Amino acid sequence: MEKLVYFDYAATAPVRPEAVRALTDALERFGNPSSRYEYGRQAALRVKEDRETVARAVGCAPGELFFTSCGTEGDNWAIRRGAELNPRKGKHIVTTAVEHAAVLETCKDLERRGYEVTYLKPDRTGRITVEQLTAALRPDTVLVSMMLVNNETGVVLPVEPCARAVKAADPAVLFHCDAVQGFLKLPGPLARLGADLVTISGHKIGAPKGIGALYVKKGVRLRPLLTGGGQEEGLRSGTEATAQIAALAAAVRAVQGDAGRLERTAAVKEYTLSKLKEAVPRLEVISEGDAPHICAVTLPGYKSEVVVRVLGDRGVCVSSGSACHRGRPSHVFAAMGLPKPWLDGALRLSFSPESTREEASALASALRDAADSLFTTLS
Ligand code: PLP
Repeated sequence: MEKLVYFDYAATAPVRPEAVRALTDALERFGNPSSRYEYGRQAALRVKEDRETVARAVGCAPGELFFTSCGTEGDNWAIRRGAELNPRKGKHIVTTAVEHAAVLETCKDLERRGYEVTYLKPDRTGRITVEQLTAALRPDTVLVSMMLVNNETGVVLPVEPCARAVKAADPAVLFHCDAVQGFLKLPGPLARLGADLVTISGHKIGAPKGIGALYVKKGVRLRPLLTGGGQEEGLRSGTEATAQIAALAAAVRAVQGDAGRLERTAAVKEYTLSKLKEAVPRLEVISEGDAPHICAVTLPGYKSEVVVRVLGDRGVCVSSGSACHRGRPSHVFAAMGLPKPWLDGALRLSFSPESTREEASALASALRDAADSLFTTLS
């Protein structure tokens, strides 16, 4: 495949060679972990070891980690089943207006089913405060869902103090965190956040698409979303995706083996932003991002879809906001109250530890040429 200049790691990351090797090895060992003969026993043993690897990275016990098909499934499971865990308490959910569609659309579906949802509005920088959250709690609140790293701005939400404050105010409220963009992208294990439920997804860290996991804190009696053969301790039926699970564990090991990755990612992001500001004076920064791998910029008055296409024609890959919102203005930037010309021209840039200064320079010159050749609605 032709090598492109890729700045869209928050959409998905290349599958790591270690994950490819683990995947193909596991495909050859085709046993079903539920089978009671040798092939099955071997497959079950591998899944057990892989679960231990991923659980260690999350900072939880292996018995608290359940494999899913993706982050979207983890979010759906946590929110749909979390919301109905305590029906006598009520039907009120608190989340934020900047969540991923996997959370927002699930909440909207629950609204159609009789739940009430409070969507916390961010400030101009994309931030939400502990005070905002605690003020939104009600006696009938059953669930809070707050993401760790926003996928469009790179802002880190205050999940740990929020989880602590929610539990102090009302220990019966369940706390879910969508950590799909935070897993192995911030220092410290996710289980320390103090959430009851945490979603992760493999394809953001170099595993293939189609594998994720949900951390369910010990003692939380979450009912399954998928019923069937009773795999995953009866909580997530479906024959274990042994190859994807092996690849996820291999990707986790490879990422963890790269101790300097967060610093390198942050450094290349900083360099890219300075290059862009120098090359494209019209460019404005929406968010530098607290997380090392994501930031958002805008060319006010330009149409970001057109800019993305022009860059794409030059082999430079960026996103005009979340890849899941093709064609629609970003609900995140809109919730932040950005002026329309800023919304129109918004671009999300996302990085990996392997991103280079040469790629940053290629992005800067491609963006400068795009800005020079395209019309804005402002001039
Ligand atoms: N949550 C966030 C914050 C995301 O960025 C994404 C994917 O972009 C998801 C959830 C959905 O994850 P998946 O693509 O594994 O379903």
